[in-house]
Amino acid sequence: MHEIKRDLVIIGGGPAGLAAAAAARQAGCEDVLLIERDRILGGILNQCIHDGFGLHRFGEALTGPEYAQRYIDEIRDLHIETLLGTIVLSMDRERNLTVSSRKGYTRINAGTVVLAMGCRERTAGAISLPGTRPSGIYTAGAAQNFINLQNIMVGRRAVILGSGDIGLIMARRMTLEGAKVEAVFEILPYASGLPRNIQQCLNDYDIPLHLSTSIIEVHGKDRLTGVTVAEMDHFQPVPGTERFVSCDTLLLSVGLIPENELSAGASVKMESRTSGAFVDDTFMTSIPGVFSCGNVLHVHDLVDHVSEEAALAGEFACRYLGEDISQADTPIVIEPKSGVRYVLPQQVSGKSDFTLSLRVTEPSRDRAVWVRDGDRKVARKKLVRLHPAEMIRVKIKKDKLETARKLEVSVE
Ligand SMILES: Cc1cc2nc3c(=O)[nH]c(=O)nc-3n(C[C@H](O)[C@H](O)[C@H](O)COP(=O)(O)OP(=O)(O)OC[C@H]3O[C@@H](n4cnc5c(N)ncnc54)[C@H](O)[C@@H]3O)c2cc1C
Repeated sequence: MHEIKRDLVIIGGGPAGLAAAAAARQAGCEDVLLIERDRILGGILNQCIHDGFGLHRFGEALTGPEYAQRYIDEIRDLHIETLLGTIVLSMDRERNLTVSSRKGYTRINAGTVVLAMGCRERTAGAISLPGTRPSGIYTAGAAQNFINLQNIMVGRRAVILGSGDIGLIMARRMTLEGAKVEAVFEILPYASGLPRNIQQCLNDYDIPLHLSTSIIEVHGKDRLTGVTVAEMDHFQPVPGTERFVSCDTLLLSVGLIPENELSAGASVKMESRTSGAFVDDTFMTSIPGVFSCGNVLHVHDLVDHVSEEAALAGEFACRYLGEDISQADTPIVIEPKSGVRYVLPQQVSGKSDFTLSLRVTEPSRDRAVWVRDGDRKVARKKLVRLHPAEMIRVKIKKDKLETARKLEVSVE
């Protein structure tokens, strides 16, 4: 097998990998290699032809491909080497990567690695969807790929299960392409997607959203003929509420799973709440010199935050090559408490300011996120509206951390 050495290797050429590569080069790393399994850069953004990307980062509403192109141009201007059509098959704790392309296998020893592999969608099997398995059932992202990139219409009469952002965006896309979207059904008592997408993708097109409702049976032999839905109480169907909805297409928007097979293969310490790596405030994982960012670290709602986070990971990966950025002997651990689903990073050195990212467990209004060191207030952020779909970010100053050993984050 061909063997090479590289200083900094980034796995994944989506918005996270692109931003990490550009930042690493700008921080002074001359030897950056970006590896992408697809034949083009840009990741999931290539199929997101709707606008709404880049409002924070560029102050403009861009389409996904337009947003990606800004970074692709930067990568080209910075003369960063990219390997397209190349998949990283494995990684070990010494940062040896096995890579496959049409040219064959290559072993790359990397001085530092940035993991930016994004995430994939939950499928019918993953949620044990009850009933038959006829054609006409797609994940929302797969349908988006067929319609937006391959010009293939997936159906004429659709039902959408799950109110995640991709499902909402696809409800609008299917309608614009001439299909009838019967309804979106959501098992939870609140929508999982961003409020702006509920308005712009459902309400503006008179597509009904039924909360606390789910599919209890799929019907059809060759092609889908319909679904039986029922109201749900504590995830159990309420007897007597069942009804049949005729449709030829079912789109699933029931969650994303970070693609962490490479991380798991190298025994990177994982965090069950995010399904991503356990990281510190430099985005370094439990393996020295291996960093993680973007959707493979935790599922983001805004690509602008992906780019910001990944740029930091790229910069720290570059610094790792020349200086000791490892954590203090006794790092400060950060734990989610009442009303908080997860926090990130999970530990910090206390030597620098950092931004805490978190998601709440349920929607609420007029509450505050508290960050405490025992009884001492470290930070507090008041919010009018809190929603699990919207990531909350809180800036923490290092001078508040001098004596801290453990930070607890809660909603009160
Ligand atoms: C359908 C959809 C709609 C969205 N709409 C919006 C929106 O309106 N506004 C907004 O701000 N955000 C939106 N987002 C969110 C945003 O697009 C994502 O947060 C962002 O794309 C995540 O970037 P990423 O680089 O982490 O992952 P990805 O974009 O998924 O990129 C990961 C890349 O890694 C590559 N890869 C994976 N494994 C390997 C491997 N082993 N070897 C080589 N390459 C590998 C993949 O091929 C892929 O190109 C949307 C997301 C989706 C899915």
